[in-house]
Amino acid sequence: MKAPDSNSRGRALPLSRRNLLRAGAAGSMIGLLGADGRALASGFEPFGARSPLRPDGKTKHVVLIIMSGGVRSRETFGSPEQIPNLVKLADEGVLFTRLRTANLGHFGASMSIVTGISEARGIRDNAPGPDPTIFEYVRKDLGLSAQEVWVATAGGAQQVNYAHGMHPEYGARYGATTLDGDGVFNEEFKALVKRFGAPRPLGEVPAEKVAGLRKALRGGKPATAEAESRARVERYILDELGGSTSELRGAGAGDAKALRLARNLLSVFRPRLIGVVLQDADIAHGSFNGYTEVVRRNDAAIGELVAAIRGDAELRDSTAVFVLPEFGRDSDLNTRRGLDHGDGSDDLRFVHGVAWGPDFRRNVVIKDDRQTIDFTPTIAQVFGAKARLAKGNVLREIFA
Ligand SMILES: [Zn+2]
Repeated sequence: MKAPDSNSRGRALPLSRRNLLRAGAAGSMIGLLGADGRALASGFEPFGARSPLRPDGKTKHVVLIIMSGGVRSRETFGSPEQIPNLVKLADEGVLFTRLRTANLGHFGASMSIVTGISEARGIRDNAPGPDPTIFEYVRKDLGLSAQEVWVATAGGAQQVNYAHGMHPEYGARYGATTLDGDGVFNEEFKALVKRFGAPRPLGEVPAEKVAGLRKALRGGKPATAEAESRARVERYILDELGGSTSELRGAGAGDAKALRLARNLLSVFRPRLIGVVLQDADIAHGSFNGYTEVVRRNDAAIGELVAAIRGDAELRDSTAVFVLPEFGRDSDLNTRRGLDHGDGSDDLRFVHGVAWGPDFRRNVVIKDDRQTIDFTPTIAQVFGAKARLAKGNVLREIFA
């Protein structure tokens, strides 16, 4: 959790494509070629168990999923059959039924979630805002390196601006590492792998079988932490090269990629905080059916992410997940039988949201008004950090 590499200070990473390529390639060659683990450790901090974020808590990792693009409660918790995974999460956690949203357009509204401030304070269309984000608060207060805090987006140059603001006491040097839906494994990287010889994807071979084989090769001895982390990186790379992320297509493909990316990052690098910013629901302006398909698909992808958490011995009891849209949509269909966002109705101004994690209460529904800007101070609280400039309130009622 301390900063091991030169990227962690100075300009916030923004792992450029090139850096990522380097880091990814360094990691991958170990997995693919079986070299020793040292090069990997120099690129990315090893992936051993983390200590809890607070001495009085169990949470070690937090995932914040912002369903940007505008999603009404009617299509989420108002139609539970569309979102079985979110319903399950809510049953095991805390469900908010009236989160007041910031009415600032897509970019401003999502920005307000990560800053905890619902004012259009100098928010321009494609630039970082003036206020610090949750990513900067936790990195600065906990002394976390850039590789401990990530933002995976559905794409669009605009979305990298959620990684940090321009506040002089925070800013780029505390920003999140950003990745868009094309991920680490872009075409450039694939060409490199081709040169070294593409690995055979695991395909249908069950993970337990591979683990058993590995154990046999070690003479039955338990795996070292290093061997385990190497195996995780290897699995990640094989997954990616198997095309599971890059070949996602159709309505909501950008969102699906971002969620898949977050899942892989969490499994492999075990960062402290991952923000996932979606956007595909906005297809609703022109297509109600496309929109509901995005909602269903995102629920399924969130289900995959949560399944990966549940299936991981270390993440299972130490990972918290927050999910909320940035705002809803209009009450009535437009003339194209789509849904805009601008009528000022409660369908637009209030959304449902979920908090799920080892330190949170279970099966609790909060029906009183809360705000989408409350999530940043609340997540800061989970980290033992303070969102000093945020205007939202800590949602104390979520804590067990
Ligand atoms: Zn829109």
